[in-house]
Amino acid sequence: MGDKTLVVIDDDDLVGQLVVEAAHQVGFSASAVQDFEALKQQVEVGEPDVMVLDLVLPNVDGIQVLRFLADRGCKSKIWLLSGFDPKVVQTAERLGVSLGLTIVGALNKPVSVTTLKDELRKHLRESGDFTVHDLEQAITDDNLFVHYQPKVRLSGSGNGEASCGSLTLTVDDAPFEVIGFEALARWRNPHGAMVSPVKFIPVAEHSRMIEPLTQLVFRQVIEALSHWKARGIVLNVAVNISPSTLADLDMPDRLADKANAVGVGPEQIVLEITENSAVTEDPHFMDVLTRFRLKGFGLSLDDFGTGFSSLIQIYRMPFTELKIDRSFVSEMDQNEEAFTIVKSIIDLGHNLGMKVCAEGVETQQSANTLMMLGCDYAQGFYFSRPVPLPDIMRRIATVSEMDVTRRFS
Ligand code: C2E
Ligand code: MG
Ligand code: MG
Repeated sequence: MGDKTLVVIDDDDLVGQLVVEAAHQVGFSASAVQDFEALKQQVEVGEPDVMVLDLVLPNVDGIQVLRFLADRGCKSKIWLLSGFDPKVVQTAERLGVSLGLTIVGALNKPVSVTTLKDELRKHLRESGDFTVHDLEQAITDDNLFVHYQPKVRLSGSGNGEASCGSLTLTVDDAPFEVIGFEALARWRNPHGAMVSPVKFIPVAEHSRMIEPLTQLVFRQVIEALSHWKARGIVLNVAVNISPSTLADLDMPDRLADKANAVGVGPEQIVLEITENSAVTEDPHFMDVLTRFRLKGFGLSLDDFGTGFSSLIQIYRMPFTELKIDRSFVSEMDQNEEAFTIVKSIIDLGHNLGMKVCAEGVETQQSANTLMMLGCDYAQGFYFSRPVPLPDIMRRIATVSEMDVTRRFS
């Protein structure tokens, strides 16, 4: 994925240049075309993210252009541009929508660069869209942050793993031992919108920004772990890892060194790898995973049940934990098949000597079902949403007997 792209079609070159200029300033990669033929060629090469369309062109009218785009199943977001009576533009707008196009707005000529920029920015803000450049800048400026979701123990007692046994989270009057947290990357784009990692992680993966992003998350996590350790609290934090990061053979050493340098043990860090990305024949992958494990890091197979791993693959890979995908967990109390899947994954994990964590626990009923099934750990909105660290620590502090408010402030 490259930058967000914009194409303007207007027979007046000056208007085209004006739009291109405004789009550049907002961070789009933009170009102008002056007639329908050029637009067709442009669309053949690749559909832009945004199109600004003059309704009056030589030899063809805007409606014909809209029909052409609709026939192609065009997914671009379209602004209409016209010097006509606003009513004409509105009619064209309605027609475009009825043809299945995404018409985001209409602009009356003459438009100023400021108006255009405001409109484009507003659009980026509302859609939570961003450019690769925005993300790169945020990563370079250390402008991403981490939210933490507590992971609680449902059954069994501590067996030597790193935990903060004295920390308790009380939900519906029941105390749960917090054994650690999952670190989830968060980003507010330059337009002020919170962007989901589901959107920006794939972009970072494609633009080779995932490595610095992962480093940034690790840096913040290791800092937090060492901060707590200095206060006598040993936590365990899970970090999500993209498969491309696992091509780096030196990563286990570098990470262990960084953790050790501040007194944090690798056993306090769990790496989460999704089941789908773990299914690979790449020999490096297994190599790096094994080296992580040998250094003492925990390894968790995330979103388990949605991918295509085979039993033999799970058996051969050095995972310490299976994380049941939340799609099964959220369904298991209404759907017998989902229940059977959850139960089978718990049995499978235990039989292979792994811990099992359920994600996406949203109700007390789900928590009870999982306890009954002997699931080791759980995470989910029922216990807590992912939140900034001070928030969750305050919540834990108020229910715990320890004076952690002072210790975490
Ligand atoms: P994941 O690792 O499976 O993380 C769990 C996701 O489920 C999180 O979404 C979390 O907010 C959400 N969740 C937790 N409890 C509940 C619940 O009870 N109900 C529902 N409906 N959702 C719940 P989030 O934070 O949007 O992250 C999405 C995905 O993005 C993560 O899925 C992970 O694969 C990826 N991701 C997040 N941070 C990073 C990162 O630092 N690096 C990499 N490579 N991937 C990341
Ligand atoms: Mg995860
Ligand atoms: Mg997951």
